[in-house]
Amino acid sequence: MSAENPRCTAIKAGGGRCSLPAQPGQDTCWTHSRETAEQRKRNASAGGHARSRRPPTELEMIKGQLRTIAGAVLNGEMDKGTAITINQIFNSLLRSIELERRLDKHDELMERLAELEAEVERRGQGVSRGWGTHRTA
Ligand SMILES: [Zn+2]
Repeated sequence: MSAENPRCTAIKAGGGRCSLPAQPGQDTCWTHSRETAEQRKRNASAGGHARSRRPPTELEMIKGQLRTIAGAVLNGEMDKGTAITINQIFNSLLRSIELERRLDKHDELMERLAELEAEVERRGQGVSRGWGTHRTA
């Protein structure tokens, strides 16, 4: 007495039907259920292309504010002096963001360099172990 084990309904790249058992509660095996889930995710993100749900970055917010200020100046809602001052502040802000990014990048590179150095050292030890190395005491 064996329960009917449903097979995966997916069609393989070659054209044949997948021979793996389906996941419980699903009509595809684990490989194909993952594939369809990713496909669905891709489709979903392609559909929601125009408006992403992620929060705006600092840079995007600054750009939006700059546009608002530009519009206010053009409409005569803001005097030029104020706009120039705000623009200078934003410039400083942008420069500090850029610096922050460079430092982040620098830290990342230093980390990776340290990893590489450690790896080289490990390999070097592996090669020089045994006879043939000259050590000065
Ligand atoms: Zn399958």
